[in-house]
Amino acid sequence: MSGPACDTPVRGTLTIAGLGPGGASSVTPEVTAALAAATDVVGYGPYVARVEPRADLARHASDNRVELERATHALQLAEAGRRVVVVSSGDPGVFAMASAVFEAMEAGPPAWRALDVRVLPGITAMLAAAARSGAPLGHDFCAINLSDNLKPWGLVERRLRLAVQADFAMAFYNPRSATRPSGFARALAVLREACAASANPERPVIFARAVSTPEESLRVVALGDARPEMADMRTVVIVGSSLTRLIARDGVPWVYTPRFAPAEASCEGSGP
Ligand code: SAH
Repeated sequence: MSGPACDTPVRGTLTIAGLGPGGASSVTPEVTAALAAATDVVGYGPYVARVEPRADLARHASDNRVELERATHALQLAEAGRRVVVVSSGDPGVFAMASAVFEAMEAGPPAWRALDVRVLPGITAMLAAAARSGAPLGHDFCAINLSDNLKPWGLVERRLRLAVQADFAMAFYNPRSATRPSGFARALAVLREACAASANPERPVIFARAVSTPEESLRVVALGDARPEMADMRTVVIVGSSLTRLIARDGVPWVYTPRFAPAEASCEGSGP
């Protein structure tokens, strides 16, 4: 059974959907179907703009950094019986709107917990970027948001050092923006320092910008050659583990991390 029968009260729905990294072909069929059935789409302006306009679709575009207000608005619309889709780029659960909706739900009226809520995954930036460059995340890895808008910078640095120590490959979201011009330079300095004692201080760094859009660019450099200006807010940065390797070819090399680690895999900073 799909939609409600005539004259029965409409039950609102709230779908939190990932639009993928940018290209229309990376939007999943279930997200496309949810958008086709929506009465309202809610999200950050540039993401709402990716949804085809329709006469029967209300588009609620909001500014960056108002996630909780946006989530609350979406819950209110669903409570009023609308079929609401909240859109995020990439995956909605990765540094995006799904958590904001659940934060608002937890703080809101009990009725919101009974709403028909679904989270539809999307291709997150690090996976799109990894696929373009080979298989840099083929062994254990972590993802870190380099923005200190929602956490102290000291925690970012601590996680960077621990990730190097654990010998993870690392994917960095939100590396650099106009309001945070110097954080990424600091992050690179911390990484160089932490990797200096490792088995591979010159591990590869991938700068993948605007993946799957017409502005896509991909660059691979050694950690020592990585510069802050190589990243902006449309870039995801992947730093290899000590085991990450290059395969030279014409143009940008393939980057991959083998599936296996030796018994004594490099563990920087393990002390005497
Ligand atoms: N929910 C999104 C991430 C939102 S945080 C996801 O799952 O991908 C925003 C950050 O994602 C950007 O600063 C950038 O680091 C990364 N990003 C989003 N789209 C990207 C793309 N097409 N190419 C490269 N990085 C991208």
